[in-house]
Amino acid sequence: MNSQIKNVVVLGGGTAGWMSAALLKKVLGNNINLTLVESESIGTVGVGEATIPPIRLVNNVLGLNEAEFIRETKATIKLAIKFENWKKQGESYFHTFGAPGKSIAFCHFHHYWQRAKQLGDTSSLWEYDLNYLCCQEGKFAQINSKDPILELPFSYHFDASLYAQYLRKLSEQMGVTRIEGLVKEVHQDPENGYISELILSDDRVVSGDLFIDCSGFKGLLIQEKLGAGYEDWSHWLPCDSALAIPSERHEKTAPYTRSIAHDAGWQWRIPLQHRNGNGLVYSSLHYSQQQAEDLLLSNLDTQALGEPKLIRFKTGRRRKQWHRNVVAVGLSSGFLEPLESTSIHLIQSAIVRLIQLFPHNGIAQADVAEYNKQSKLEFEQIRDFLILHYHVNQRDDSQFWRDMQEMEIPDSLTHKMELFRATGRLFKEQNDLFQDSSWLQVMLGQGIEPQDYHPLANSMTDQQLLEMLANMKRVKMDPLPKLPEHDAFLKQLCGNM
Ligand code: FAD
Repeated sequence: MNSQIKNVVVLGGGTAGWMSAALLKKVLGNNINLTLVESESIGTVGVGEATIPPIRLVNNVLGLNEAEFIRETKATIKLAIKFENWKKQGESYFHTFGAPGKSIAFCHFHHYWQRAKQLGDTSSLWEYDLNYLCCQEGKFAQINSKDPILELPFSYHFDASLYAQYLRKLSEQMGVTRIEGLVKEVHQDPENGYISELILSDDRVVSGDLFIDCSGFKGLLIQEKLGAGYEDWSHWLPCDSALAIPSERHEKTAPYTRSIAHDAGWQWRIPLQHRNGNGLVYSSLHYSQQQAEDLLLSNLDTQALGEPKLIRFKTGRRRKQWHRNVVAVGLSSGFLEPLESTSIHLIQSAIVRLIQLFPHNGIAQADVAEYNKQSKLEFEQIRDFLILHYHVNQRDDSQFWRDMQEMEIPDSLTHKMELFRATGRLFKEQNDLFQDSSWLQVMLGQGIEPQDYHPLANSMTDQQLLEMLANMKRVKMDPLPKLPEHDAFLKQLCGNM
């Protein structure tokens, strides 16, 4: 099809729909007319509270004022995820957004730390990570140091429904037309199979050149109409259900997410300003819904607000995320469980990719193929990172965890683990969302012990090595006394919480 793409229709007004509308309109401006259709009678999935640092880029591009955004979405700061009972019962580790120490002469810091360990040093790697130290003390402030050693990368926990509302307001101010209505029929061009119009239950017609399918798990356009197909990854990630429930806020809000492993799944605890988000992700082969509810409710640490909401899902990805003139964004494009808070990020990167490949002068198959290649790789890299958490465990207390240890894993992950186990080396794949420091923390945290370190770490004497490490620890701890408590930081921005 070589006609110009001018009229863009977003189907769905969840986080994916409103993020897509806001970003596309902000960047493409008057090059497009944008209409969003949503139906209050269907509603949104209504969960999704933890994010990762690239969300700050979206907010910057949209020109959001950070203090206003934090107030409007009841956000708190996220510096890390604490994984509890994942390696074994009673043990925990952090996956922070920071990095331990700093690389010296092309050699990652952890090789020096490993060498010191062999000399008898008992420090944990995390003691050299400012994000971790701030989590331990419950502190946060934006540090505007020019020294990269003192960076404190962060993202937010927020109420995703409030975020969508906030973006709706912004989108409408930019000229996005919102239509409240239920799509009952979808028409295709008989010649090329492209979607031509959506028919609403009151017979209104919404036509467009390009459709962004943000209709949630079912993928009303990409799957139900165009049958793009689904690649099922539940043999690697067998959790297929989640129960979510809010509870009263904690007296003190931690600047990190908690992920607590149970016998056949795991539980999240996410502190917001006005409440806690809680949920249990589990395998329905191992727990009945009742057992899951009992487990979740008996593990809340504040009073429940409401009843648990059940969500069923199948882990995997849409085989073609861009098919004909439909691009699937959000849950319609696939689902990876929220263990590393990646779904909202996948919305962001899908829209950025679409903007980069936007078919102003008609849809070219080469653009579609490139889009689909990049999104496939992105999903697979995140999938491997999630499998790592499950597969490398030392839990022998349940069949679920033993099965996870014994399952066959993708070759791409085996290679990464073998490299690290043998030599402590890590190499970031091109475009991998997760940096070396993320892989490092999760591999070490889950219990992979490298057998060797890089010979470059022998470039100093034992004495010099121990002095360098002690100095690094001091430098990382130095800002702590001056930083405010996380709650004090929020209070200063938002007033009473
Ligand atoms: P939905 O919220 O389902 O929205 C679908 C929209 O389509 C709605 O507006 C609906 O009205 C509309 N619609 C559907 N059919 C029709 C129709 N026929 N006519 C008109 N409109 C229609 N992500 C994170 O990044 N961090 C997290 O911590 C996180 N936690 C999660 C926990 C769980 C248990 C789950 C399931 C997901 C989690 N996610 C998380 C993912 C996150 O919730 C989703 O990525 C996000 O909410 C996007 O959803 P969506 O907009 O694609 O779909």
